[in-house]
Amino acid sequence: MTDLMEKIVSLAKRRGFVYPACEIYGGFANSYSYGPYGTELRNNIKQLWWRTFVHHREDIVGLDGPILLHPKLWEASGHTTGFNDALVDCKACQKRFRADHLVEEATGQDLEGKLDEMSTALTKIKCPNCGKIDWTQAREFNMMFKTEMNNVSDEEIAEVYLRPETAGAIFVEYKNVLDSMRVKIPFGIAQIGKAFRNEIVAGNFIFRLREFEQMEIEYFISPDTKWEPLFDEWLTKQEEFVLALGADKKDLRHYEHPDDKRSHYSQKTVDIEYKFPFGFKELFGLAHRGDFDLTAHSKASGEKLEYFDQENNKRYVPHVLEPTFGVERSLLVALVAAYHEEEVKGETRVVMKFPKAIAPIQVAILPLSKKEELSSVARGIFDDLKTSLICEYDETQSIGKRYRRQDEIGTPYCVTVDFDSLEDKAVTVRDRDSMEQERVKIEELDGYLVGRYK
Ligand code: ATP
Repeated sequence: MTDLMEKIVSLAKRRGFVYPACEIYGGFANSYSYGPYGTELRNNIKQLWWRTFVHHREDIVGLDGPILLHPKLWEASGHTTGFNDALVDCKACQKRFRADHLVEEATGQDLEGKLDEMSTALTKIKCPNCGKIDWTQAREFNMMFKTEMNNVSDEEIAEVYLRPETAGAIFVEYKNVLDSMRVKIPFGIAQIGKAFRNEIVAGNFIFRLREFEQMEIEYFISPDTKWEPLFDEWLTKQEEFVLALGADKKDLRHYEHPDDKRSHYSQKTVDIEYKFPFGFKELFGLAHRGDFDLTAHSKASGEKLEYFDQENNKRYVPHVLEPTFGVERSLLVALVAAYHEEEVKGETRVVMKFPKAIAPIQVAILPLSKKEELSSVARGIFDDLKTSLICEYDETQSIGKRYRRQDEIGTPYCVTVDFDSLEDKAVTVRDRDSMEQERVKIEELDGYLVGRYK
């Protein structure tokens, strides 16, 4: 792990952002729990996304579908047969790897989907674990998690899958949305929710997980539309969202899938890659999926999934642009971009410079001492502010230590109540980034702080 990643992982645990899950049982399969500040940060990221793409747009509506969906959906979408990873085992040390990843790392070749070529390439590649060259043939494994459902009677057990992506739930409700809402093409359906993939090598902290959350939009367009400008517009919107997480534009780049790597139905697929401390990796994706999904579900279900264009008196199956975003990868970008170390009076100050819109705590209220006369004023301020801002009250430890703690949590403003406050009815507001302090009247505090979050 890189030095920077080590620092971020350690801060994330120490400060209640991300914990390795089930640590008391020795940890579990690269899964993580989000601590109190991590939960706030996640929620803020999801809210920012929902506000940006649903509330602030007239052409996109929201949906919340189930995780367990009809198994026929995954047959129609091709996931039951085609959602595979190529795996290979080292016969010497029994470790299992993604064959395509091993080949790509060793040779730079992208052989995804080409099992024989991968097996040939592997005859020259050493096992990263034991150094020997003794591989099984590369084989395909389905990445969907299976579970069972007693759906009809005790004897009848149906095999179902935990959804490997949220998009499927959107396509099966396309008709319901069309019938119940006043949507007109072009329009989108947005959803945030959990997805599950049996990734063989999870890793890089929260970058690749088996249980994660996606934020996806299916944006339905007419097959006659010139889609290229819309595609570019979506790429820009996705990039703007990454910038709103605090990322720098120079750390973003596009990777356009070449013809032989792109799904047969897609006219264009682009990954938005971010420069994580472990290198440029896919953060979000954007795909033109044509009418593949609606046509496949229409054939499999027998339901017409068309759109009637009243103005032109025309029926058609819409095409779709699919911008997809990962919650955990967004959270990792927010952590990486926010992490700063600064020299202050000979000491290193670690400060998480989250954009205000996603900071887990917006204002910390810190009475200089636990004495009743100060804490009663400070609690009054907390009660006044808590309905408009996310606040934290903390009266433990020295004020210096409390500032350092809030810097590491990334709290943009600290409000300090001192003994002078009893006389001048004012408090000190400390700015996280400049560390400048300003005296503000208590009666003006609400307006002062709320104004800074507008
Ligand atoms: P990768 O190439 O990294 O495996 P993918 O191309 O399979 O990703 P998509 O199927 O396009 O990913 O999924 C959409 C988004 O969901 C990704 O851009 C990413 O943000 C997120 N995502 C996908 N797989 C994972 C995972 N295992 N853990 C965390 N987030 C994920």
